[in-house]
Amino acid sequence: MHENIEIVDVGPRDGLQSQPQLVDTQTKISLIKRLIAAGIRRLEAVSFVNPKRVPQMADADAVIEQLPRHEDVSYIGLVLNEKGLERALDTDIDQLNCVMVTTDTFCQRNQGKNASDMLEAIAAMALTAQRSRRFFGVTVAATFGCPFEGEVAVDTVVNIVQRLAAMGIDEISLADSIGVAVPSDVTRVVMAVREVSGAIPLRLHFHNTRNTGIANVYAAVEAGVRIFDASCGGVGGCPFAPGATGNVGTEDVLYLLHRLGYATGIDIEEVIATAKWLEQPLQTSMPAMLTHAGVFPHRPAA
Ligand code: ZN
Repeated sequence: MHENIEIVDVGPRDGLQSQPQLVDTQTKISLIKRLIAAGIRRLEAVSFVNPKRVPQMADADAVIEQLPRHEDVSYIGLVLNEKGLERALDTDIDQLNCVMVTTDTFCQRNQGKNASDMLEAIAAMALTAQRSRRFFGVTVAATFGCPFEGEVAVDTVVNIVQRLAAMGIDEISLADSIGVAVPSDVTRVVMAVREVSGAIPLRLHFHNTRNTGIANVYAAVEAGVRIFDASCGGVGGCPFAPGATGNVGTEDVLYLLHRLGYATGIDIEEVIATAKWLEQPLQTSMPAMLTHAGVFPHRPAA
């Protein structure tokens, strides 16, 4: 038996949100259907943000209405504030994920609050979500570095995680939002965070901005992390973080994990085919490597 690792495909949200090409609702639904057919069981589908700030997510409600429903598939909706949470709770999205930013400058730009006010807001939102019996996770953005304030101390991250853990949230995600971490950073932060995160599952989110994304996934696997975000084709970015580029590609992460001997339940060939299909509506070539190189060893044609 191979040990299992869960992949959350964040392509429909983190992947698409900063694409210059506006993607229509039907294409988003087709992408989600293809990913599910490939074996993905958890997806970040939408975000409940101000459509004026993120036009790509303006059709969140329409996307949710048309999401294919399967018993074993769950969808995450991103919320940045109380207003987004209220909107999300009015839908039947399965899981809510809020964002906490490590630094005041980035937090202000992303969510209009400094970091300590944001933590207060998240505590209140966690309570609301819990009363509604909705899964509520929090992503700690800029865990490994900030586009405005530079280095982020491990202690800053640990203090935030300690506060989040006390709120009884369902999952903590550590995000290298601007792709600056190297494997030793990942090992150090994951070890330190584990000291305070208790039994709350840890999920890691890497961007491959400086070509260290896959090495960072490996470091996190070695440190015991078993849940990863990735995006089909490696599309992605952040509209509020200058220089942010794509998430680690789902197919690139799958290749690593499968060759390491982990099971994911996901068909890498189907993910590659989906990434190639996505190039047309996005009018761009996918940054993931496996999209172009293909798997090894090659499967004989049927
Ligand atoms: Zn991201």
